[in-house]
Amino acid sequence: MSSSATETLVTTPTLDRYFENSKSSYIELNGVNTPKQLIGNALKERVQNIDHDICEPGDEDTFFVADLGEVYRQHMRWKLNLPRVKPFYAVKCNPDPQVIRLLSELGTGFDCASKAEIEMVLKAGIDPSRIIYAQPCKTNSYVRYAANQGVKQMTFDNTDELHKIKKLYPGAELYLRICTDDSSSLCRLSMKFGAAMDTTEELLSLAKELGLNVVGVSFHVGSGASDPLAFMNAVRDARTVFDQAADHGFSLHTLDVGGGFCSETFEDMAAVLSAALDNYMPSHINVIGEPGRYYVSSAFTIACHIIARRTITLPETGIKSYMLYLNDGLYGNFSSIIFDHQNPIAHVLQTGANQRFHYNALSSQQSHHNESTEYSIWGPTCDGIDRIAESVRFDHTLDMGDWLYFEDMGAYTKCSATRFNGFSDAHDVVYVCSEPGAKALLGMK
Ligand SMILES: *Cc1c(COP(=O)(O)O)cnc(C)c1O
Repeated sequence: MSSSATETLVTTPTLDRYFENSKSSYIELNGVNTPKQLIGNALKERVQNIDHDICEPGDEDTFFVADLGEVYRQHMRWKLNLPRVKPFYAVKCNPDPQVIRLLSELGTGFDCASKAEIEMVLKAGIDPSRIIYAQPCKTNSYVRYAANQGVKQMTFDNTDELHKIKKLYPGAELYLRICTDDSSSLCRLSMKFGAAMDTTEELLSLAKELGLNVVGVSFHVGSGASDPLAFMNAVRDARTVFDQAADHGFSLHTLDVGGGFCSETFEDMAAVLSAALDNYMPSHINVIGEPGRYYVSSAFTIACHIIARRTITLPETGIKSYMLYLNDGLYGNFSSIIFDHQNPIAHVLQTGANQRFHYNALSSQQSHHNESTEYSIWGPTCDGIDRIAESVRFDHTLDMGDWLYFEDMGAYTKCSATRFNGFSDAHDVVYVCSEPGAKALLGMK
């Protein structure tokens, strides 16, 4: 996909309306199919065809509904707010093949950290020049693989890695990854990666001595970053390294601002980052980014089945509460609770013998009424840690066979699910697309 086609899409007149409301999916699209209606219909069709009294094992497994239109809108929102930064989608966040296909059509690059990720992107027909191998501490055989495939761009942050690259891929285009203050982020990365600012001179001097090709600087402010100033300080530090590199005879041409963007705070982050770029990076410097979570989090909704229930009666009052056991949990798609410090919110999807459907209904939200019933929500494994929610209240009475759903489940969920205890890590994805522009790119009807 050429960039000119992408430009045309940006001017789609309906798009402005999406940005009036941060929860874009509530806005009607041409009055026909709102994103919510599309997702709701897909959920309904699937769960109403499952009868847990007679279905085969696996038929009632959890599944996702992915709205690829939401990924498309996030891309347009990125272009609107960060026109100078070319996104390289961080594949680890959600290596969904349709997401990769859509982003490929939209012209993004891809951030990969392993042979399997690189292979997946190449197999999707994406040119190696659109990949950055953004893992500062790489496996030897993977570096050889990258060299054979012509994946030139890669990051480093220590002297041992420079010697490795000298041996295995001296022609690589190198980004020096620097350490940032990531204390405001959900998932801190700087204790593991990034060169401290007092080591960059030494690294540049060694790279020069080894005859290696340093082309840029990269950083990551931490996944789920919340303090926009982190970007300001990181860009300022990158400027320092650009100047040091020039003193060592390098002519750096690209800054990689990494990931860490969240949908909720994106405009604020983008404003601070843009100002920092204007301030520290002259216009001939290319800027790329590695957003992961930002692109996919809101695009995926998951539906889970209640496989069992335990009734608890308080002896003093006779008040009943319930423990609900779902067919998915912390060892499955809710791994994000542990690895990504998330707190997924349960909503009621379908209840009762008459299969009442509650998607996106106000009454399906958690309740604040005192008359509501208290539930705790658990995963299916035998481990006590496998708890999704300690205490939630619903107006509905929930029982075995009912369904719950959780929104914003696209980032760091299915990619880190396990098969612990023999429960499936399978997860069907039902794709819908609420944007005509994305449909056209994907050839969807
Ligand atoms: C995880 C990661 C990303 C993506 O981070 P998000 O917070 O999901 O945007 C980008 N770059 C690197 C090097 C990463 O490790």
